[in-house]
Amino acid sequence: MALKSSPVSRRRVLKAAGAAAVGGASALLGSGTVAAQQGAPAVLTNTQAGRKFKAVVKFSRDAPSVVELTARGLTARQILVRTEAAQTCYTSVRQILMPSASAPGQPSIMGHGGVGIVEAVGPQAISVRVGDRVVVAFHASCGRCFSCLWMRSDQCVNRGEVTAAPICNMADGTSISFANGTGMTELMIVHEEHAVPVFSSVTSPELAMLPCVGGSGLGMATANAPVKMASDVVIFGAGPVGLSALQGAKIKGASRIIMVEPIRYRRELAMKLGATDVLDPNQFKREARPRPANGFGRDDYRFNDGLVDRIREMLKEPTDRAFAGSGKRGPDHVMEAVGGDQMVPKEAAGPDPTGIVPMQQAWELCSKIGTAISCTIGQPENAMVQIPGSQFGDSSKNWTNSTGGGTNDRRDVPRYARLMETGQLNMKALVSKTYPLNQTKEAYQVCADRTSLATVVTPNA
Ligand SMILES: [Zn+2]
Ligand SMILES: [Zn+2]
Repeated sequence: MALKSSPVSRRRVLKAAGAAAVGGASALLGSGTVAAQQGAPAVLTNTQAGRKFKAVVKFSRDAPSVVELTARGLTARQILVRTEAAQTCYTSVRQILMPSASAPGQPSIMGHGGVGIVEAVGPQAISVRVGDRVVVAFHASCGRCFSCLWMRSDQCVNRGEVTAAPICNMADGTSISFANGTGMTELMIVHEEHAVPVFSSVTSPELAMLPCVGGSGLGMATANAPVKMASDVVIFGAGPVGLSALQGAKIKGASRIIMVEPIRYRRELAMKLGATDVLDPNQFKREARPRPANGFGRDDYRFNDGLVDRIREMLKEPTDRAFAGSGKRGPDHVMEAVGGDQMVPKEAAGPDPTGIVPMQQAWELCSKIGTAISCTIGQPENAMVQIPGSQFGDSSKNWTNSTGGGTNDRRDVPRYARLMETGQLNMKALVSKTYPLNQTKEAYQVCADRTSLATVVTPNA
């Protein structure tokens, strides 16, 4: 399906919501609204209590299904957003497609954020207005806690506080809070801390790539440990996170960007989006090597790794004259965007389904004063990354990680949108296809199979 501009006019939404605020339910019950399509709710006030909507909900051991929910009514700082688009995140594929060993502690709406139009706001919400198009982030950032004050809103300690309030009920009366995600739903009901207004001509499916996956890649390249101008960059993984990291590195002025990716079409897309080189990790061997009699030195590793050697060779400097600025061994910036396999893909799998080896390689490859960064999940609980103490201690390599790549949604999402408008950031190339809400499982299946790059669900299309 081709991407289209938002069909919802700001004037129309403002008119409808304004009438609802002063006149009760009549405007929202007009033809074409979700409420009208699904029959008049028992109660509907400007708090939206009683409003019916459909969402993909996990409530038992079985895979989630589309069920009808009833809004409980907005609290003071909650807002209600009519969802236009939400991306499928690979980290949810098992949860969406497979039965689980036990029922969830609390039913939850699936998804990792989305994009939509604000249709109602609580009386104390000040950062968004009815009619705004907003990006709803998976993680809230309060702006006031220790982490937020120290510019690490990805670690906001209040996100549990703002997400715990119930937002809707299932038919049996069980309440659901935002806490476990949103996006795969006709309506997103969230605290304003989750929502970033975006005033942009970029389409909603493209913007929908920013919460979670796109922001994770862009953040790794630009937020807490930004790529420096003219640096050598290596990125493990050319999925939606890795290809966003690639574009972030390019925007920051990297001179060399080497992508490591097992799937051919992803390597080809990486080249189109600005990679200077691509490598297939399945073409290289990694073998443990015997411990030398005098132990491993500060720059030694426990593996003979063909991929690491090859990349070092590729990044060899034009001179070995250490008094003329030379002496660097390995890339300046290494980003790991692989993670653990949740399901067996139909396309080529990488050499390590646990996702640990790319993390090790990122550390091993990184230059003596470079930065290795990761943002992935899905590694088995007991799997360990091993770093020789002699390198971890008296050494200058930097390792950093982050939630969502360290993107500060309120600060960065509007900047990313501007880069999309000016053609420096291409999220359109990442969106393979859009799906209606009742085909959410098909959208996640494609994501699990890796047969195309990224899929987006458009719940109200
Ligand atoms: Zn996600
Ligand atoms: Zn905070």
